[in-house]
Amino acid sequence: LGRRINSAVNDLTRSATLDEKAFDGMIKEISNALVEADVNIKLVSSLRKQIKTAVKFNELPAHVNKKRIIQKAVFDALVDIVNPHQTPYNPKKGKSNVIMFVGLQGAGKTTTCTKLARWYQARGFKTCLVCADTFRAGAFDQLKQNATKAKIPYYGSLTQTDPVVVARDGVEKFKKEKFEIIIVDTSGRHHQEEALFSEMQDIQAAVKPQQTVMVLDASIGQAAEAQSRAFKDAADFGAIIITKTDGAAAGGGAISAVAATHTPIVFIGTGEHLLDMEKFNPESFVSKLLGMGDMQGLVDHVQSLKLDQKETMKNITEGKFTVRDLRDQLQNIMKMGPLSKMAGMIPGLSGMMAGMDDDDASGKLKRMVYICDSMTLKELDSDGKIFVEQPTRMTRVARGSGTSVREVEELLTQQRTMAHMAKNMKGMAGNAQKAKAAM
Ligand code: GDP
Ligand code: MG
Repeated sequence: LGRRINSAVNDLTRSATLDEKAFDGMIKEISNALVEADVNIKLVSSLRKQIKTAVKFNELPAHVNKKRIIQKAVFDALVDIVNPHQTPYNPKKGKSNVIMFVGLQGAGKTTTCTKLARWYQARGFKTCLVCADTFRAGAFDQLKQNATKAKIPYYGSLTQTDPVVVARDGVEKFKKEKFEIIIVDTSGRHHQEEALFSEMQDIQAAVKPQQTVMVLDASIGQAAEAQSRAFKDAADFGAIIITKTDGAAAGGGAISAVAATHTPIVFIGTGEHLLDMEKFNPESFVSKLLGMGDMQGLVDHVQSLKLDQKETMKNITEGKFTVRDLRDQLQNIMKMGPLSKMAGMIPGLSGMMAGMDDDDASGKLKRMVYICDSMTLKELDSDGKIFVEQPTRMTRVARGSGTSVREVEELLTQQRTMAHMAKNMKGMAGNAQKAKAAM
């Protein structure tokens, strides 16, 4: 999926005419990839609208990296879906917290029960397991083996065939023994059969869990929506655990399940081993789904496009003004317009822009931002001296930005002027403080 979405975005950025038609085509391609990755069709269509509104292709300034803006919009929309903005149940120490597992046969309930039990045990909870699966032969054996390996007390029966009785007896016994986390494993369901659903409800009524967890196989596919809805109606679970995220499945089903039930994913299973479970993190889940590597870099980049001057202000108060600060200022000006007026507010730039009309000034500013965009991070965050020490850097940046060495020099002069002012301002502030202290 990630590869497909990235290639859709790449096609857009590579195509000579970066017009709205190409943009629409790309959104269509991304949507198809998401549907193929088992994200619910209706969800994809609302996502599509969301991205179009978020990106406003026509209003994007020419110089910004469109690919990154679009990627970020897709990313944000998906994160928003898997983040139901609800805090999941938090067990309390010194109390009996009953957690009941539900889900289809083979989803990974029994395996995940033990993983979760170990997780709480490692965090100082007195933890145990109850096997209420009397439906499948060998279910109790499986739980016994897992529990023994993890050194977790367990309860089950080879003779009692009524799962409600086993569940109630087990939970009662462990409550008396002051266990803090009591996890109840239930039998799997091949289909959403009525009889098995009512069994699930009977167990729920008998053990009155504080938390019901739905276990969902990451490869569930387009069935995820209907299935999680049916379980939600029958058992009103308050948390989801997605298993087998280490497998080949794209995991789009998980997204659909959250969207359909407005229930948070709490953990993900990442393998068969007892320790293969991680706390769910919407950002990293979606990055993986989209095959995106450096999300932080992307987020930073897009944030730097906003009219956020905090970092620059912080630098200035420290008496610094880097090349990056200059670029951020230039970008801010370009967003604020009318350019000739705004540029006049920045010392030094007013001289540079004198006599230019808005189009010329805008072209000039764009070229300056191109120059900054061709710099390495080290260069951007520098005070500019690095270019004086190694002048070949200027040649490289000029070539990369399609400008001239003279223009690069001009930009660096501008940045030096600003840095000088920042230093003076700090000096003045320092003197004022000294004067105050002396009084
Ligand atoms: P249940 O029927 O819902 O209780 O499912 P089980 O716990 O018996 O798991 C079914 C199969 O899925 C077993 O072979 C597990 O080892 C496997 N399984 C469960 N969780 C994961 C996971 O996160 N990753 C992988 N690779 N396999 C898992
Ligand atoms: Mg099982």
